[in-house]
Amino acid sequence: MEAHEVVKQADEAGLRLVRFIWCGNDGTIRAKSSARNGLEGRIASGIGLTVAMQAMNGLDQLQPVDGMGPVGEVRLVPDPDTFRVLPYAPRTGAMLVDHVTLDGAPAPVCQRSFLKRMEERLGERNLRLEVAFENEFSLATRVDGQFVPIDSGLCFSTISATAAQDYLDELAEALDAQGIVLEQYYSELGHGQHEISTGHAPALRAADEQILVRETIRGVAARHGLVASLAPKPWPDNAGNGGHIHFSLWDADANWNRFHDPKAPDLLSGDARAFIAGVLAHLPGLCGLTAPSFNSYHRIVPQYWAGAFVCWGHDNREAPVRVPSVFRGMEEASTNAELKAADASANPYLAVGGLIAAGLDGLERGLEPPEPVEVDPATIDEEERDRRGIDRLPATQEDALHALAADELLLDALGPTLADSYLAVRRSEWAAYSEGDEAFEQQGHFSKY
Ligand code: GLU
Ligand code: MG
Repeated sequence: MEAHEVVKQADEAGLRLVRFIWCGNDGTIRAKSSARNGLEGRIASGIGLTVAMQAMNGLDQLQPVDGMGPVGEVRLVPDPDTFRVLPYAPRTGAMLVDHVTLDGAPAPVCQRSFLKRMEERLGERNLRLEVAFENEFSLATRVDGQFVPIDSGLCFSTISATAAQDYLDELAEALDAQGIVLEQYYSELGHGQHEISTGHAPALRAADEQILVRETIRGVAARHGLVASLAPKPWPDNAGNGGHIHFSLWDADANWNRFHDPKAPDLLSGDARAFIAGVLAHLPGLCGLTAPSFNSYHRIVPQYWAGAFVCWGHDNREAPVRVPSVFRGMEEASTNAELKAADASANPYLAVGGLIAAGLDGLERGLEPPEPVEVDPATIDEEERDRRGIDRLPATQEDALHALAADELLLDALGPTLADSYLAVRRSEWAAYSEGDEAFEQQGHFSKY
C-alpha cells in the first residue's frame, strides 16, 4: 500500500491519530502517534525516537548500553501494508514500524528487520515459514488493586464462554475488522483464562499480527471495564498463559508444505525433521527469546503442559515441540509443529526470527532429531532422561538468558547490537524481579503483557 492510500483510508475512517507501534527488547508494546496533519510525510520519513528506548526494560529502567544513551535518534518508519483502523480506540489507526537510522538503513537494533533478514535467508533456499500464534489470556477485574479472575469455570466451560460473551463477540468483530483471521476460541483451564487461535501467515505478517492481536485482546477488554493479561503466569496458583507458535516450511514458488511427506509414517518430511532438530539443538537459548520474562519460568514447569524438558513428541502436550496429528482430508495443509515453550511476553519478531535461525541450522547441518518422546517426560526415570538428552529447559529467566548468551548461532543471527541490548534489558528485569516478592512480580507482568 502507498502512503497516500493510507491517508485516504485514514480520512475515510475519520482518524485523528495513527499509532506508530513497535515492540521493544522488553517485549512490551509502545507507540508514538502521528496526527492526521503531517501523516503522509511521517509515513515516508518516520517519527523520531531516542536511541535509548531499546535499552529500556519492562520497568522503564534505562540500562547502560553502548550507543543507547540520551544522545542520538532513530526513526520509526511504518510499513504501510500493516495499516489498520483500530476498532477499540476511537478515531485511531495503527501501523507497525521498523527502526531506521538517520541515513535510512535498518537500525542494527531493529527486531522487525532481524526477522526480515531471517526470512531472506529462508528465501535464498526458496522457503518461507508459515506461522500461527495461539494466545491464552486471563480476564480479570481490578478489586482494591488486586486482579480478580472473572470466572472460576471449568476447562472449555460454556458457562465461562457465555459469561464472557459480550467481550468475545466484540473481540471477534474487532479481529475481523482488522483482517485478522480468527480460527478458534474456547475458555481454558485456568480461572478467567480464555484462548484464541488466529490463522497462519508468512513469518513477518504473523509477527505483526501477533502484536495487533495482543493489543486487541487488551483494548477490547478495557472497553468492557476488564483487564486482559497475556502474562505467562497471571496468578501464582493458576494455569499459565502460553503463546504457542505453530510453524511449517513452505516452498516459496510452488507453494506446497515442505514439512509434509505422505510416505512418512508420521507424515513428517526430512526437512521437517531437520528443522525440528535445529530447534531442539538451540532450544535452551531460544527460550531466552520465546519465553523471555521473569514470569515465564513460573509457567514453564513440569506437568503444566507448557513443555519443560528438551524433547519433541507426537500429540504430546508436555513436549515443548509438539507435532500435532493432521486432520483427515487436509493432511498436507495441517502438517506443522508447535513450539509450546513460548509466551506473549516475547517480542514476536525475535521469537520467530530465533525460531528460523535455529531451524535453518538444522537444515544446513542436516540434523536428525532424537527419538520422539511419547509420554510425559517428567515420568521418565532421571537416569534414562540423562542418557537420552531429555534435559530440563532453563528453570529461570537468568538461566535462559545464560543459555542465549552461550548460543553463538543465535547471537550471530541477532548481531551484536541487538544481542547486547536485548541481554542487558532482560538481565536487568531478572535483577529487579528476583529482588522483589510475588506480588511485585505479578503486578509487574499482569498489566504490561
Ligand atoms: N496453558 C498451557 C501453557 O501454559 C497450555 C495448555 C494447552 O495445551 O493448551 O502453555
Ligand atoms: Mg490452550
